[in-house]
Amino acid sequence: MKLLENILNHNEKFVAEKKYEEFETTKFPNKKMVILTCMDTRLLELLPKALNVGNGDVKIVKNAGALVAHPFGSIMRSLLVAVYQLQADEVLVIGHHDCGMSGMKPEIMLEEMKKRGISEETLETLAYSGIDVNGWLKGFENVKESVAHSVDMINNHPLMSKEIPVHGLVIDPATGKLDLVINGYES
Ligand SMILES: [Zn+2]
Repeated sequence: MKLLENILNHNEKFVAEKKYEEFETTKFPNKKMVILTCMDTRLLELLPKALNVGNGDVKIVKNAGALVAHPFGSIMRSLLVAVYQLQADEVLVIGHHDCGMSGMKPEIMLEEMKKRGISEETLETLAYSGIDVNGWLKGFENVKESVAHSVDMINNHPLMSKEIPVHGLVIDPATGKLDLVINGYES
């Protein structure tokens, strides 16, 4: 059976059996914070358990690497929405060890794209259009520096309230142990 069919079959039972009842909550976070973290599969359940947050407690924004790559991209917009519309009063940026974005080489990913039918011509067209695909796909070298950079981007964003503490942490994807990189109360 295909993945999607499995999901839809499960979903039908889930709703029919009212399994959703235990998750009922509101869109406003009980713990008044928003977390930016990585989409890594190991963090899906581990991170909330390791931080003692459950359904309804926090807003979570995820992407590859927990990066704020652009000051006016969708990650930054999500954080601003969480703060100004959804009662998040603190921001936590949580990177992790052994991240897929750590040391990611754009050349390898571009090779993979070519193998799957993306033509050299398409890449050249993008380059001639002034799009730096290599720079865009580049990962980071050091997770602590990357977290610190994202915290700095959020802290210094012209639309972010100065009253919002922005913390930076790194989580171990095996044990859930958190290391503090930046304490937002002190900056
Ligand atoms: Zn990651």
